[in-house]
Amino acid sequence: MPTSPDVIDDGLPTAAGGSTPPSATLGGDKKRSIEQIALLIFIVVPFAALVAAVPLAWGRGVSWLDLGLLVGMYYLGCHGVTIGFHRYFTHGSFKAKRPLRIALAVAGSMAVEGPLVRWVADHRKHHRFSDAEGDPHSPWRFGENLPALLKGLWWAHIAWMFNEEQTPQQKYAPDLVEDPAIRAISRHFLTFTIISLAIPPLVGGLVTMSWWGAFTAFFWGSLVRVALLHHVTWSINSICHAVGKRPFKSRDRSGNVWWLAVLSCGESWHNLHHADPTSARHGVMRGQIDSSARLIRWFEQAGWAHDVRWPDASRIDSRRKPVAADPA
Ligand SMILES: [Zn+2]
Ligand SMILES: [Zn+2]
Repeated sequence: MPTSPDVIDDGLPTAAGGSTPPSATLGGDKKRSIEQIALLIFIVVPFAALVAAVPLAWGRGVSWLDLGLLVGMYYLGCHGVTIGFHRYFTHGSFKAKRPLRIALAVAGSMAVEGPLVRWVADHRKHHRFSDAEGDPHSPWRFGENLPALLKGLWWAHIAWMFNEEQTPQQKYAPDLVEDPAIRAISRHFLTFTIISLAIPPLVGGLVTMSWWGAFTAFFWGSLVRVALLHHVTWSINSICHAVGKRPFKSRDRSGNVWWLAVLSCGESWHNLHHADPTSARHGVMRGQIDSSARLIRWFEQAGWAHDVRWPDASRIDSRRKPVAADPA
């Protein structure tokens, strides 16, 4: 059984209280090898197909300009979500001066992952009930056997977003609802989506002075970029709650998944994140790449961010499982 739900500070504002988190009731940490292999195939094959299909379908290859737009826009939106929506707005892992607060809200909105306040409310609810009843996107929702897990992965990856039950934003994000600028940015989500999709074709068209250049920039810098970022973000909800190493104490099934670290801007060190949700750094162990933490450090050095919750060695150690108890 997962341990000590009470020691975890999830960074929720007190106004969001009213319900106590139930213990995880969806089972233990048993691994059955056939299920593990099927799970891996389910994860790797479609993703490999997506990656392979793109250059195959596009026999012309990709220009450096389009690739630059893809990578640049990808990491702008990715860090907007990881540093802004997640570590700052959801968990308060640092304090930001007003211009940085607004910039993070805008950058995160460019990721096309829904309005800021809704994103934060859903994610705080995820932490409150992680992998237990009430979690909006647990892959263990339907049970533990193979069909239930495959269904659950689909649910956690995409299907949960179509759930009719919406997280009450006033209850889970009162601190954001009361900030007029944040409210406005959240409400104008569609505008930021249009801007986000329009920047690549605008740049591509102007640089090449051609409609074709605008079109290919739109394909790579807008469509492929958003699809990739979506799947990587959703993988934190699905893959990182199904597989991965679990060296830290958390009451759920969150795991550290090393091969998603660069693409997820450091968010796939998800076991540590659930063990210590307000920590500004998720990749706390040697060699664990966490570009979001690096950028937060630079913001701190520039004087834009302060009161950053950096995890010191004793804090990390206190959240470590006894070695013998780690089944991973
Ligand atoms: Zn999680
Ligand atoms: Zn979180």
